[in-house]
Amino acid sequence: MTVHDKSIREIRINPIIPSESVLVATARGMRPKKAEAPAPRDTRAHVETCPFCKGNESMTPPAILTRPEHGDWALRIVENLYPVLDDDVSNPNFNFGLQQTIDGYGRHEVMIDHLHHGIALHEMDVSHLHMLFSAYRDRMLQLYRSNERLKYVMVFKNFGPAAGGSIPHTHSQIIATPVVPHNVQTEIEHSHHHLTKYGKCIFCTLIDEALTFEATIYDRDSGEIRRRIDVGQYIIERGKHFVAVKPFASRFEWEVQIFPLVHRSDFLQSSPEELQDLGQVLQRTMARLDAVLGGVQYNYFLHSIPHGDRYQQYSGSYHWHMEICPRTSIPTGFELGSGLFVNTISPEFAAAKLRDVVL
Ligand SMILES: [Zn+2]
Ligand SMILES: [Zn+2]
Ligand SMILES: [Zn+2]
Repeated sequence: MTVHDKSIREIRINPIIPSESVLVATARGMRPKKAEAPAPRDTRAHVETCPFCKGNESMTPPAILTRPEHGDWALRIVENLYPVLDDDVSNPNFNFGLQQTIDGYGRHEVMIDHLHHGIALHEMDVSHLHMLFSAYRDRMLQLYRSNERLKYVMVFKNFGPAAGGSIPHTHSQIIATPVVPHNVQTEIEHSHHHLTKYGKCIFCTLIDEALTFEATIYDRDSGEIRRRIDVGQYIIERGKHFVAVKPFASRFEWEVQIFPLVHRSDFLQSSPEELQDLGQVLQRTMARLDAVLGGVQYNYFLHSIPHGDRYQQYSGSYHWHMEICPRTSIPTGFELGSGLFVNTISPEFAAAKLRDVVL
């Protein structure tokens, strides 16, 4: 039996960033932006001319960090040859009228995630993913400690041409900036507001709702059932310490977010056991996405509390997480012009499809 997506046309408000809403419109007519099949990704194991492949280490700047620390490397971090931010900046802050700038001071590094050139994340061992996330953690900590002008360290990955991955060898990027990115700042402010008002972390509430919420929503006029929310409807994967959730107001059709189950604001405080579990939950989530999409190309990034005294006060209200955004369509003029994301697959249907994958 083919499962069909229910017909929905409604605007959903992102509970964490209320200024960001999503038009969920599953009607066929709302699907003009479907990109043609994306360029296939490079799946080769080794490429002679690739600067990130084994044996070509001299083609990159020297390693800043390698794992394991001794012997043959399984992953390594190097400086980005074309950094968007750099630590020698000649112009001091320049401000004139409405032209306010902060100098582009910062760091931009590349982590070569694996020896295998074109390996997908779900094909990596859980122990390798554990090492990968430990390396993110270690390098983030080093960067925060290296210079107090660095206010935020963002770790992200672009995988596949559809996600802007310009170098085909699997890699992540680490960018340290002198400002806290707007998205993180908005999440911090709104979750703080929520805690002040309701006495609870909004992310914890969201996880609780995803795990146990059960409700029937009736139409105000006719009294007919508009929507039934089932137990666990938005859960994709659950480990001992982490849960993968399909957001109710997903911006991207196949977007999934991963949260620690216990309240924790800072990714850097994750224990080895937790990172092992994160590796497992992430691997299984990516395998589901890959199976449903027939090869997933995506961006993912970590959102964790910024370091510095000013942010201590938010440790009770902010909850670190990982956002995974598979790229299956390109934004239209309507989306760019309005800031309203259009999602043509209902999050409930997408969650059911992902859960149905047999691993
Ligand atoms: Zn390579
Ligand atoms: Zn929380
Ligand atoms: Zn976030």
